[in-house]
Amino acid sequence: MVSSSELTPERRISEQQHGQQASASEQGGQGAGEHLGREGAGAEIARLFDLASDLLATISPEGRLGLLNPAWQEVLGFSRDELRAMSLRELVHPDDLESTRSRLDPTAQPAHFTNFTNRYRHRDGTWRWLLWSARFQDDTWYASAKDITDRLALERQALRDPLTRLPNRILLVDRARQAIARLHRGRAPVAILFIDLDRFKAVNDTLGHAAGDELLLQVARRLSEALRDSDTVARFGGDEFVVLAEELEGDAEAITIGERVLHAIEEPFAIADAEVSLRASVGVAVAHDAATDAEDLLRQADIAMYRAKSAGGQDLELFDERLRRQVAARLDIDERLRHALPRQELRLAYQPQMRLDGRGRVGWEALLRWYPHGSLQVEPAEFLPLARESRLIVAIGEWVLRSATLQAASWRGRERLQPTMSVNISARELAEGDIVARVKGALAHSGLPAGGLCLEISEDSLLADVRAARELLERIRQIGVHVAIDNFGSGRSSLSLAASMPIDTIKIDRELIRGLDRDSHRRGIVKALVSLARETHLRLVATGIETERELKLVRKVGCPVGQGFLLSPPQVPA
Ligand code: C2E
Ligand code: MG
Repeated sequence: MVSSSELTPERRISEQQHGQQASASEQGGQGAGEHLGREGAGAEIARLFDLASDLLATISPEGRLGLLNPAWQEVLGFSRDELRAMSLRELVHPDDLESTRSRLDPTAQPAHFTNFTNRYRHRDGTWRWLLWSARFQDDTWYASAKDITDRLALERQALRDPLTRLPNRILLVDRARQAIARLHRGRAPVAILFIDLDRFKAVNDTLGHAAGDELLLQVARRLSEALRDSDTVARFGGDEFVVLAEELEGDAEAITIGERVLHAIEEPFAIADAEVSLRASVGVAVAHDAATDAEDLLRQADIAMYRAKSAGGQDLELFDERLRRQVAARLDIDERLRHALPRQELRLAYQPQMRLDGRGRVGWEALLRWYPHGSLQVEPAEFLPLARESRLIVAIGEWVLRSATLQAASWRGRERLQPTMSVNISARELAEGDIVARVKGALAHSGLPAGGLCLEISEDSLLADVRAARELLERIRQIGVHVAIDNFGSGRSSLSLAASMPIDTIKIDRELIRGLDRDSHRRGIVKALVSLARETHLRLVATGIETERELKLVRKVGCPVGQGFLLSPPQVPA
């Protein structure tokens, strides 16, 4: 025989409840604890029962409530007597009735234990979500339930974009996962469409955030209208929207949906008294089998979207076999590039910069070369963009700085004109970590004076954030290192920008040099650069000189320094 103090609270309640239930119901509004015994451990348990914020109850297999703690009244608004008088059908949400009945059917729960959620009626007509845990014993369910309504609402909120109320990334991926799992049962393909609004940022910047928000709401509305009810439109933040489309006939239908999206966005929007036109880039990826990973499918749609965007003019791209192969090749290069530094597969080639009056060498440009073990050389144009994306460029760039400054320090002593060593620095290298510290480190390590180093920064990187670039270039020049604008004239930069930047050198892009003989407009730009350089004491370097004719023309317009295959190709020292 077990003594009463050894009983679990649940057992104790169960033992006492049999004798007390009727009087509990008679006394309705009072604490049920009063009927659980007033002495010793029984009284303590009774107090706990009254205090518990969870709902505690005994329930018959038919769903009738018996012993109830006071928390019931707080959560559902009905008195405990009212609750006991109500049937399961009156209390439980119609959609949850069937499942609740089966949960309370002891024959359906062989372990005599069950966990489930359902909705119970509140006196004010709303529904409260309850999370149940119940054990069956002596023909009674001993149950406790938590009111999880608020928690669920919060969770639901966390699954939605606060501005548009569309599902967010988490919810979309979850739905995609479920849709893909259904492919297992022979369902038709599922597609994800990744949508990026090409001109949204400009609208946000010029018309303000309120207008930007309004525009996003209108886009959300148009997308929802353009798609089928069964499709899910989600917003991933910023100007990215994603559509999940199920039960498709094939790739062609996914593309048709993409075209509908493009049409929906093409029509101008009326925002803050202005008419705003947007363009969208759409990437489409289709899953045909249940083995597809939802995140992978999303990534494929994202890659296709980027492809559409960078193709310019083309708005929609499908992630197909060709794109799959390209991505695989890139991943392969990316993987091998990670080992390039430790395996010492990188080299620097050096290309001289010559005075065009024939008086000798004034500089070198260090150019990165990659010779992977066991395969062909990979071109910088192929691996540098990957290195930039993966941040590997920062470690590689530091190696370039150190190697090039060491090389310059050893060569310089033999040179009459004390040439400068130029090193290319990408925007990523400028932005990550402390470039000034890395430069100082390389100079100290090599013994090269600061004036013997020039950092080449491309026009594009300067334009990305002019103010930040200006500050950084000033810090670099303060330590005595030179700065050059590289590929000048290839993009959007202007002479006035060049004149206002803290720089020492302008490198004229080879495209400008190439057209010099045929194109008087280009000749005009180069001449203007020559006079700007004279007035502001900038150094000017014409790059990409390949022919005698180009050399002659560059000399004629008065450019003092040149670089190009004709003068000397880049060479890797033995
Ligand atoms: P860039 O700074 O414009 O470098 C000049 C490119 O033009 C080099 O290509 C060079 O080999 C090539 N070149 C030189 N003379 C001629 C010529 O007469 N005709 C033609 N058609 N091309 C000529 P490369 O070595 O393939 O480098 C490509 C780009 O990669 C460079 O363009 C630079 O932006 C980047 N890069 C190279 N090395 C590094 C590096 O160490 N770090 C970083 N961040 N970027 C680098
Ligand atoms: Mg360069």
